[in-house]
Amino acid sequence: MTLGTQWAIDWTRACAAVIAEHRVELITLDRDIGDGDHGENMDRGFSAVTPKLDELSADAVPADVLKMVATTLISTVGGASGPLYGTAFLKASVAVGSEPELDPAAVVALLRAARDGIVLRGKAETGDKTMIDAWTPAVDAAVQAQVAGEDEAGVLAAAAAAAEHGAEATEPLVARKGRASYLGERAIGHRDPGAQSTALLLRAAATVAAGGSGNGS
Ligand code: ADP
Ligand code: MG
Repeated sequence: MTLGTQWAIDWTRACAAVIAEHRVELITLDRDIGDGDHGENMDRGFSAVTPKLDELSADAVPADVLKMVATTLISTVGGASGPLYGTAFLKASVAVGSEPELDPAAVVALLRAARDGIVLRGKAETGDKTMIDAWTPAVDAAVQAQVAGEDEAGVLAAAAAAAEHGAEATEPLVARKGRASYLGERAIGHRDPGAQSTALLLRAAATVAAGGSGNGS
């Protein structure tokens, strides 16, 4: 599908579905190296987003959807991840401007702006065992896919695969940001919950772009 407002709406619904589906998994990951609320936080946020999709005006562009997601996440998700994901969606919204449809370059701009927003807000670097360890490989893979001539769905598929790999690669790391940083070496062997939720959100984006429902069904 072309990546217009309908894609942004469907992606948002798919995010809500996939987060609800993986709520317990995210809670368990956060229980291991944090305070156990990441699944709850994310589910609360995306559950609050979906009813608002009906309030979008008929002439809404993708940026309007992203901005609505951002403001809702900021106001409803507690914890570190609310402002971080909120900033990501807000910066992504600004990056795509008033374009009615996103081409591969706009998809790269969206992902890069989201990642940069999280870094600006949370100051995490690569290897700190945070969601950035999923976002940065996703951005890099998206750039490579775009340069290789992939279409929008191909760029998102590359980003999703890299985010999944990045989330898995947080397992051997010691955390240097967020609650998990209090654990020192005890965080080794556990996957970062925010990196995992990032992988889920980006996989949903790719699945919807490829024409699927994005919620695994
Ligand atoms: P809290 O840590 O306040 O309980 P959540 O459990 O919802 O919030 O989110 C935890 C996730 O937030 C972590 O797994 C990590 O990916 C991410 N995170 C925490 N601090 C930072 C940071 N400074 N930069 C990037 N991501 C961070
Ligand atoms: Mg937590």
